[in-house]
Amino acid sequence: MPLRKISALDNVLGKIDDLDSSNLQTLVQRLARERKLLETVFNIIHEGILVINLKGTIEYANSAACQLIGLSSKQIGSASLWKFMPDLTRTIDISEYENEQNFFDVSREIEINYPKHRFVRLYIVAIPNQQKDEEKKFSVILSDITQEKISTQQMIENEKVSTVLLLAAGVAHELGNPINSMTIHLQLIERQLEAIEETNEHNKIKKSIKICANEISRLDNIITNFLQAIRPTLPDFQDLDLTTILKESIEFQKVEISGANITLELDIDKSLPVISADQNLIKQALFNVLKNAREAISKEGIIKIQTRSDDEFVFIEIGDSGSGIKKEHIGNIFQPYFTTKNEGHGLGMMIVNRIMHDHGGQIGISSNISHGTVFTLQFPQKHRRVRLLNS
Ligand code: ADP
Ligand code: MG
Repeated sequence: MPLRKISALDNVLGKIDDLDSSNLQTLVQRLARERKLLETVFNIIHEGILVINLKGTIEYANSAACQLIGLSSKQIGSASLWKFMPDLTRTIDISEYENEQNFFDVSREIEINYPKHRFVRLYIVAIPNQQKDEEKKFSVILSDITQEKISTQQMIENEKVSTVLLLAAGVAHELGNPINSMTIHLQLIERQLEAIEETNEHNKIKKSIKICANEISRLDNIITNFLQAIRPTLPDFQDLDLTTILKESIEFQKVEISGANITLELDIDKSLPVISADQNLIKQALFNVLKNAREAISKEGIIKIQTRSDDEFVFIEIGDSGSGIKKEHIGNIFQPYFTTKNEGHGLGMMIVNRIMHDHGGQIGISSNISHGTVFTLQFPQKHRRVRLLNS
């Protein structure tokens, strides 16, 4: 069915044989104008639209399509769509359509890595009503569904994290009872020992009891810290000067930093705007990122901390000249229990991510195996938070 009503142009086209040269000229001009209008409309559509032939050669592409697949206008007319999406030829073969008059309409979700990493939903539809002797053509429609994918992925991640945490919290809580019981029994043994005559053996046992008591207290500490870390506390928002909090967090690890031959470089913006945040949570986040930076440097190196702001956000960048993060690990950094360290527990970055999220902020990673890693913590400024809440 035609999508537009029959225009004056169509009327004139019907009588083309009767037209003189000046009328023909007007007609061509009108055609050119109509074509220009359609082109403009196609170029402002967000969806990528292409026309390909049976071999896959791209005969038309609108701006969005060019941007999505990295096609230059020079390549239109010669490049094949399959060159941009080689995986597709394994599951879609449009050449089969040549001798068929069947309806051809396929859709796929694909991942594009160049020029940008995107998820795209692709439809290929045979253009109907083509003349018999005309080469078959197909319309390809590309919708960018990256944002949709990311939101779904984030939802799944959040669910996963909550489930794991709930489970871990349950186990940690259960450990409290046996630990209490062991502490009480150790105290009993100690008392019974005092009632017995002192011997050499006596001292040895006492020493062992002391070691056990210390280890139990360490275990108790680990569990208490863990439960504290994962407790889903609502942030206690207060006006906060990030520079002060940052300096306190650095001070906290100063001994370890200088002990490990690490040079600390600070580039602090003195007029950093106030943010609305929970002091303890922010300290916890900074502590974790700084600790990781420290641990990534094996011999000697630099940790560079920079603060800056723009109209909307305040940024803290913590960069290190350490080991860097392998490309395939970047996606796992915020997963609970992901660690590449022998003694790591893999909860630090998950907690940082949650804290940033609870503050309406974000965390960015940029890493390079030979140069190191930069974590960027982005906080909304106080005025922006208020606006967000109001809206
Ligand atoms: P943990 O430090 O206990 O391993 P985290 O959640 O803090 O757990 O970090 C998870 C993983 O992320 C680390 O094991 C490490 O592989 C990687 N990572 C985090 N920060 C850095 C960094 N600054 N440099 C290199 N790798 C890092
Ligand atoms: Mg860590």
